[in-house]
Amino acid sequence: MTTTAPTETEDPPETAAEIARHQLDRAASHIDVDPGVVERLKHPKSVHQVSIPVERDSGEMEIFTGYRAHHDSARGPFKGGLRYHPGVTQEECVGLSMWMTWKCAVMDIPFGGGKGGVVADPKGLSEKENERLTRRLAEELRDVIGPMRDIPAPDMGTNAQTMAWFMDAYSMQEGESHPGVVTGKPPVIGGSYGREEAPGRSTAIITREALDYYGKDVEETTVAIQGFGSVGANAARLLDELGANVVAVADVEGAIRDPDGLDTRDVLSHEEEPGMVSGYDAPDNLSNADLLELDVDVVIPAAIGNVLTVDNADNIQADFIVEGANGPTTTRADEIFAEREIPVIPDILANAGGVTVSYFEWLQDINRRAWTLEEVNEELEDEMLSAWNDVRGAYNAYDDVTWREAAYIVGLTRVAKAHEVRGLWP
Ligand code: GLU
Repeated sequence: MTTTAPTETEDPPETAAEIARHQLDRAASHIDVDPGVVERLKHPKSVHQVSIPVERDSGEMEIFTGYRAHHDSARGPFKGGLRYHPGVTQEECVGLSMWMTWKCAVMDIPFGGGKGGVVADPKGLSEKENERLTRRLAEELRDVIGPMRDIPAPDMGTNAQTMAWFMDAYSMQEGESHPGVVTGKPPVIGGSYGREEAPGRSTAIITREALDYYGKDVEETTVAIQGFGSVGANAARLLDELGANVVAVADVEGAIRDPDGLDTRDVLSHEEEPGMVSGYDAPDNLSNADLLELDVDVVIPAAIGNVLTVDNADNIQADFIVEGANGPTTTRADEIFAEREIPVIPDILANAGGVTVSYFEWLQDINRRAWTLEEVNEELEDEMLSAWNDVRGAYNAYDDVTWREAAYIVGLTRVAKAHEVRGLWP
């Protein structure tokens, strides 16, 4: 592998939307697609901003700001997560909604792309405050969401309970029960078995397939995973089950390493017990950032965006990068990995198990019939293999494209075709 020195010393600051637009341009340059459609897809259809008054437990009132970005719905209702995080911005929601459009199209599921967030630190909210915030948010967004319009799901800082409150508030106001207004709910109210583990499961399945493509055996692979929440912890445990040697994992507070392999079931995830990763009795403790630079076969960023940048791209020693998080790689870092011939298996394929099982959940809600965990996992395996085959086909068919470009080629071709046959109205 060759190493080329970056031409800049720093990544220019990029928002998720800028990264997403850049990626779209690169993909579009490889295929014959109407430039008008590409231009349209650089912009969200609409972005809704709401003010959410919440009564704090102290009795004081505080106004939170929320966004819901609707990127594209040519292939079906808007679909995507809802995050509660102090760093949420409108631009971030737009970029994330664009990635949802491609993710759903790569998986060939009949949804478009949406994403939303509230500028709030959930750790600074009591459970009751979180509930009041969620219910009021559902009410403020009621006109623009719905089972056939826009279907939120958990993301950073939200979970199955958040979805239950959201679904309840929406249903109460509509006067009828609408389980299909959100996915990622608890199974007792129409949630799907296997939804929570799904993004980690798909990350593990795609890692296995990518290794196989390059003639590597998963059982002879060392893996480091940044993030030990629902994506990272489930990917770690499934890769461990597949025989990989998971040597390092990290949560927000720090990383642990055991060159002989960690017992991934014994290390509790950040959701199961916050801070338990860095507090775990392992041979080595290291920083979150150092974990990414370990000499392992596969590194999986599965926490937050923009962690692989021009500042560390040249120091990455892994042979493969699999994106468990959404948008972990900046544009310049992506270019460096391409120059260094390190395959980056993109988020819109690797973590797409989440939205795929969300689609299964939505189908179960519409049909009022629950699937077993075995049915969900079997269908997920099939869908992931089919998407992997499509992306692999594009990777092999086009000269000199990255895995990200190959995934975009698959997604963009489907979205552009949908635009073409629907046409521009009026
Ligand atoms: N937050 C998930 C994602 O980024 C959820 C998508 C969904 O299930 O709608 O893929």
